[in-house]
Amino acid sequence: MTQQYKIALLPGDGIGPEILAVTVEVLNAIAPQFDLQFKFSEALIGGAAIDETGEPLPQETLDACRSSDAVLLAAIGGYKWDTLPRHQRPETGLLGLRAGLELFANLRPATIFPQLIDASTLKREVIEGVDIMVVRELTGGIYFGEPKGIFETETGEKRGVNTMAYRESEIDRIAKVAFETARKRKNKLCSVDKANVLDVSQLWRDRVTQIAKEYADVELSHLYVDNAAMQLIRAPKQFDTMVTGNLFGDILSDEAAMLTGSIGMLPSASLGASGAGVFEPVHGSAPDIAGQDKANPLAQVLSAAMMLRYGLNQPQAASKIEAAVSQVLESGYRTGDIMSQGMQQVGCRQMGDMLLKVLES
Ligand code: NAD
Repeated sequence: MTQQYKIALLPGDGIGPEILAVTVEVLNAIAPQFDLQFKFSEALIGGAAIDETGEPLPQETLDACRSSDAVLLAAIGGYKWDTLPRHQRPETGLLGLRAGLELFANLRPATIFPQLIDASTLKREVIEGVDIMVVRELTGGIYFGEPKGIFETETGEKRGVNTMAYRESEIDRIAKVAFETARKRKNKLCSVDKANVLDVSQLWRDRVTQIAKEYADVELSHLYVDNAAMQLIRAPKQFDTMVTGNLFGDILSDEAAMLTGSIGMLPSASLGASGAGVFEPVHGSAPDIAGQDKANPLAQVLSAAMMLRYGLNQPQAASKIEAAVSQVLESGYRTGDIMSQGMQQVGCRQMGDMLLKVLES
């Protein structure tokens, strides 16, 4: 029986509409091959929504996302809206979407495509074969803990305060997402904390160890964050799935991503306990190349593959898209951002055409 999915499309600003158009074509191409049917509905977010409605996340958009099976977001932002008050900025729309869908888990893969190894700043033998997934807690920890603020002490000196706090339930739910993610990969999970110094990290470690009992098939290890940061650069191949809190995850996910060296290739997923997840490239709206058919659509296309694997539980369709990306790179096609000597430079649309050719062959 054909499986139907409602997908909310949020093209946003800058190169967003260009890369999302390619992605929709890719999804339409693979749908019949896996007996899937996608019903797409487009909604406004970011600067495009501000221009149309005066606000970066209209209620209508949030409702459309809530009633969908998954959300494919491109990118938001641009010079035009940079001087607006904070509540009217494109970024506020993005934060509102994450909060509105209660997305507490952020999945950031760092996968090295063998064809792009030279884009990394690290040595070939260190990064060849790297395939890491960082699962970051997104709605708790020091970014949200109370008390926070800048307070005046009795002596008149100012004191800045943030609080790193996690409840057991917050740790348990992110740990479960991480174990489930590890199960879809190589069944290896490394939890990163600072339990040698921080009480909040000790609780994190205790709870992750407890939850591990429900996942006997997943091999769990623990690392302190300072060591994890070193190991990621020294020997990244030792990692499969990593899980960590908001602050450590913010830093480590960018560090892991940069092992790959190319921002136009990085997808991400944000998931909640239930309901639609949001799947989007890591890069921004690239206003400097918008409307010029120069954007690399692959991070967006790979975000659609993440949607299939982690949002819709269609791993075979996801693998097919990932393999097509790999094959197009193998054939020597490159957008400007990943161009190297001897390769053939193509634009956004032509990269899409190459993907379709592979998928339909
Ligand atoms: P950016 O990621 O948009 O661009 C950084 C550089 O990378 C630019 O030179 C750009 O041309 C290039 N680049 C990015 N994506 C590319 C792609 N797919 N193909 C080819 N080249 C690509 O970051 P920025 O310039 O710091 O920010 C631009 C706007 O995007 C800002 O308004 C910022 O707030 C917004 N932004 C949005 C998101 C998001 O939507 N999640 C994330 C980051 C930045």
